[in-house]
Amino acid sequence: MKMKQFGVIGLGRFGSSLARELTNNGFEVLGVDRDEEAVSEMSEVLTHAIVADSTDEETLRSIGIRNFDCVIVAIGDDIQASIMTAILLKDLGVEMVVAKALSVLHGKVLERLGVDRIIYPERDMGIRVAHQLVNPNLLDYIELSKDYTIAEISAPKCLNGKTLEELNPRAKYGCSVVAINKKDGVIIAPTATDVINERDVMVIIGTNKQIESFEEELVGS
Ligand code: ATP
Repeated sequence: MKMKQFGVIGLGRFGSSLARELTNNGFEVLGVDRDEEAVSEMSEVLTHAIVADSTDEETLRSIGIRNFDCVIVAIGDDIQASIMTAILLKDLGVEMVVAKALSVLHGKVLERLGVDRIIYPERDMGIRVAHQLVNPNLLDYIELSKDYTIAEISAPKCLNGKTLEELNPRAKYGCSVVAINKKDGVIIAPTATDVINERDVMVIIGTNKQIESFEEELVGS
């Protein structure tokens, strides 16, 4: 299979960590920034890093940007530059354009321009951190839909040594433990006799309400 090529435009904090991670995952990454310093900081890390202004159509053409499988616009503060870059990328025929938005309005404009995926890193991280602060045992979660979530919950001391039958989250709260991540391995689809130890990570699926009430019970006990 052909290796995916990514372009990352804007090597600020967000763009540079994204580009670094893609590189670490073995992908070819071209980083673009109009700031020389930002580029030189990343030049050792990325496959290619160039100083260029992404609002210049000729520049984008000469890079051959349309041949990239996915281009991420990681410009935030300069909304005009972000929007112009997104328009040019779509016009030039880049198949998958992802862009970072700083506000809902910024995101709506990008959406209208045909940007394929919009990310709100600051907003999403704020929401995530708030959830984790409110629920100290919550390690991470994925929203499956508006109502359903998969959550990773660290087992507090009060659960140490309890079997799933004793805990019985399905009967008590309606949510199910679909995996238990233990120090020495993961139990997928655990059964009633599986034992939970402190700091095991329980992977739970259910409605937001069910998971919340389970978490409240753990904090309260
Ligand atoms: P972060 O939070 O990721 O640090 P930011 O929103 O604070 O980002 P921005 O001002 O959005 O920072 O810029 C991110 C990077 O994008 C900067 O390094 C900036 O030089 C670069 N950049 C902005 N406009 C352009 C452009 N037209 N062409 C190329 N690079 C650009």
